[in-house]
Amino acid sequence: MKRNPLSVLREVFGYPAFRGRQAEVIDHVLAGGSALVLMPTGGGKSLCYQVPALCLSGLALVISPLIALMRDQVTALQQVGVRAVVYNSTLRADEKAQVRKAALTGKLDLLYVAPETLNTEFFTDFAGRLTLSLFAVDEAHCVSQWGHDFRPDYLEIAKLRALHPQVPLLALTATADPQTREEIQQRLGLSQDPLFSSSFDRPNIRYEITQRKEARRQLLDFISGRHRGESGIVYCLSRRKTEETAEWLCSQGVQALPYHAGLDPQTRQLHQDRFQREEGLVICATIAFGMGIDKPDVRFVAHIDLPKSVESYYQETGRAGRDGQPAEAWMVYGLGDVVSQRRLIEQGEGTQEWKRLSQRKLGALLGLCESVQCRRKGLLGYFGEAHPGDCGHCDNCQQPPKALDGTELGRKALSAVARTDQKFGAGHLIDILMGRHTDKVDRFGHDSLSVFGIGSGESERTWSSVFRQLTAAGFLDVDAEYGAFLLNRLSWQLMRAQTSLMIRQEDESTRPPRSRTARSARSTTSRSALPQAAAGGGELFDVLRALRKKLAESQGIPPYVVFHDSTLREMATERPQTLDALAQISGVGQVKLERYGATFLSAIRDYAHPAQQDAAHDSV
Ligand code: ADP
Ligand code: ZN
Repeated sequence: MKRNPLSVLREVFGYPAFRGRQAEVIDHVLAGGSALVLMPTGGGKSLCYQVPALCLSGLALVISPLIALMRDQVTALQQVGVRAVVYNSTLRADEKAQVRKAALTGKLDLLYVAPETLNTEFFTDFAGRLTLSLFAVDEAHCVSQWGHDFRPDYLEIAKLRALHPQVPLLALTATADPQTREEIQQRLGLSQDPLFSSSFDRPNIRYEITQRKEARRQLLDFISGRHRGESGIVYCLSRRKTEETAEWLCSQGVQALPYHAGLDPQTRQLHQDRFQREEGLVICATIAFGMGIDKPDVRFVAHIDLPKSVESYYQETGRAGRDGQPAEAWMVYGLGDVVSQRRLIEQGEGTQEWKRLSQRKLGALLGLCESVQCRRKGLLGYFGEAHPGDCGHCDNCQQPPKALDGTELGRKALSAVARTDQKFGAGHLIDILMGRHTDKVDRFGHDSLSVFGIGSGESERTWSSVFRQLTAAGFLDVDAEYGAFLLNRLSWQLMRAQTSLMIRQEDESTRPPRSRTARSARSTTSRSALPQAAAGGGELFDVLRALRKKLAESQGIPPYVVFHDSTLREMATERPQTLDALAQISGVGQVKLERYGATFLSAIRDYAHPAQQDAAHDSV
């Protein structure tokens, strides 16, 4: 072994201690073992192979699916003085030859390769001649056909490994479900090796799922109330909506760009690059956006349309707060989402079995939305992880909603569906329940039904919520063609009083969403939640941020590659006065200290200068 892992962590990366199961994983690899590592996004998977790569002699081969992601990781490593290089299809032939030479002559510690280059015989020949320290397979779920990101090229990894059977292999992923996990182990030959799995909780993310009233307005209140000037992602279902939302946000003074698969490749790349590199940009995107995003300082992920499943929700919201700093996952949804998602599945091409599975997955997500318990408990519970609840950091914990016995309301709503022969959607059914004489009611003679007006004591919003919750809980199906409600086995059970229905009480207040946002903002906003803001560190933080931006721009790299927000915050509170003191800040390793130390020290000193003079006066 060339070096000791803890000294690598401290000297190279500038971090004082390993996190979670990192040390265990690293010790296992250093002892020559292979393993599968399951950690949530932001859990610190990269160091699990980067540290051993620097401790062992030989080259670490890192297989990573995305070119953009690879590029940024390598830039970050080069910034801390590590000999890391990318090998992928974007390189020219002479550049490739240069990389191969460096790799064969022991001049590199890490080589990041794209899976498609594994497929070439040429590469296998070159790879066979390398002296390797380890294989790291990042985003290892790409090897699984069951999973959502299957990459056929990942199957080549097994062949590559056969060339170096003694070299340890570390597979890493944030996708936790048991089928995917087993498939990774089997395909990468890890069935006999240990599994290191850590909690999938993301404690720095605050979850909120709220009723759609006026989605755009709610979104704007959310962004300008709690995340002004911060980076975030807004997920929308359709391409058109990403464009409209971005345009509208811009007109409201929020810098936003659209992203979807229908944009021409240059524009798409430009928007992704800008998001990755700039600060304070909002991207309005379809689910096409995200895989290549490794931006640590995404402060919020907003859904203005419902995702397909809890898996998608977890994955998409997981892009917030990779750096461990406070972040929010926020979603609005309403009856329309439930109906349209249910219809989309029924209209889809899939087999009956696939449709049933998709409906079940959607049902689980809707259950999470309607739940009155701690969101974290529900979310983690879905992945088989027990959480005690009461996290104190989700909407349901902070403002507990009431659960009501909705059996009677549910029965009335279902009767209206039955009496109108299952031919109508919510709007018309609500008119009937509320006893309104609309044209449609009169035309169909629905005012003579026994259910006409039986719900006039409740508000329209209550009825809309009852239909939503009935559909969410599976008491109503949705007709694929016309979107009409259909009765099912559960509906009849409820109408015959064989089962009951608990529902979430709607917030009937006329209070605009803003007052609510402002209240929770105080307890959760990243900046104000931190003590240094009050102490004036907030301003110094901004000064340091501006300095970082300048340094990043001059090198053409993203700002967080220079220093993470958390490192700048610590500098702003600790205000180190010497290089030694600066080296104590988490995230300041030896190379960064040499490269940027003096510049940041003088910025801190300049900022502190007036205060020092005052102190001198006082002591005289
Ligand atoms: P993942 O790949 O699991 O999503 P990363 O490896 O990108 O996560 O790590 C997430 C963040 O946590 C990074 O900013 C990284 O620098 C930081 N980090 C990881 N391990 C440590 C540690 N031991 N101490 C301090 N920061 C760490
Ligand atoms: Zn909670």
